[in-house]
Amino acid sequence: PEEPRVVLTARGLGKDFAGFTAVNNVDLDVEHARIHALIGPNGAGKTTVFNLMTKFLQPTRGQITLLGQDITKTRPDRIARMGMVRSFQISAVFPHLTVLENIRVALQRPNRLATQFWLPLSALDRLNGRAEELIETFGLAEWTDTRAAELSYGRKRVLEIATTLALDPQVLLLDEPLAGMGLEDVRMVAGIIRELGKTRAVLMVEHNLSVVADICDHITVLQRGEIIASGSYATVSQDPRVRTAYMGT
Ligand code: ADP
Repeated sequence: PEEPRVVLTARGLGKDFAGFTAVNNVDLDVEHARIHALIGPNGAGKTTVFNLMTKFLQPTRGQITLLGQDITKTRPDRIARMGMVRSFQISAVFPHLTVLENIRVALQRPNRLATQFWLPLSALDRLNGRAEELIETFGLAEWTDTRAAELSYGRKRVLEIATTLALDPQVLLLDEPLAGMGLEDVRMVAGIIRELGKTRAVLMVEHNLSVVADICDHITVLQRGEIIASGSYATVSQDPRVRTAYMGT
């Protein structure tokens, strides 16, 4: 098997909000072709760590690297071009556009092609080919011409993840990708994330522990802003501190 390759790291990461320490001393190693979950009880600091990693928040302490480059001070809009994208909530999808149109918009955005009225035919071919490929990968072929507004909640989420994949990122960050979904959608989206995790690094915040157990290779457990356990699901779920944290103490 291939040697694991670390693509995203945090060292001594910390964030204070007006004197309150929300995150402290967090080290992370996110590896290529692995799915890494951040879990922990409410208020543990998961969202803050996620926003620090995506550069939506500036850390108070510590260092972050992406593909070997220090990104501690890099602005979030530059991160995508470096190969890391985050999923947004469903609002990132245009409800009045069809599945195909949403994907085409996403594909055109990074290239400045959107500002060009006339596309060379070769570029158009490439764009359509890539759009088809994404629609196929994400099992959306049946809904190609359906407006996003008419999709089920789970499929909207899938479309939203598909649009973030337009840039073909090496590192994908997902913020509670299964939140608010019914069982069927959870299964579908979890299956897609599992597939994505075979060819790129995924870092996700997720509450659904059975899915985390099922698809994640590495789990980091946070409590009160600090890491209390890290490793496989089997390892962290047996950790007494994790058990206590989840009992609500
Ligand atoms: P989680 O995502 O695990 O529920 P958060 O990262 O949202 O936890 O929050 C961690 C802690 O930081 C909480 O105590 C929360 O109240 C606090 N916090 C988060 N964001 C802010 C903010 N912008 N200003 C002040 N406190 C914040």
